[in-house]
Amino acid sequence: MYAGVEVMPKSGPFGSNSIPISIVSIAALDNYVCKECGYLERYIAEPEKLEEIGKKWPKAGKVEHEEA
Ligand SMILES: [Zn+2]
Repeated sequence: MYAGVEVMPKSGPFGSNSIPISIVSIAALDNYVCKECGYLERYIAEPEKLEEIGKKWPKAGKVEHEEA
């Protein structure tokens, strides 16, 4: 796994490394990429933004991956 933390800017004019929570709030993301297969994981960088998301975003339904 390769971390893109220092490669990409956390915030700024390019929104590719952040997600909007509300009109006034944007959460910076840490990106982790697997160089073998291209698998990408993104993590919210700031715990206080996670709090905010928990309040503002509706709960996602449970995803069922496993076949019986
Ligand atoms: Zn991989």
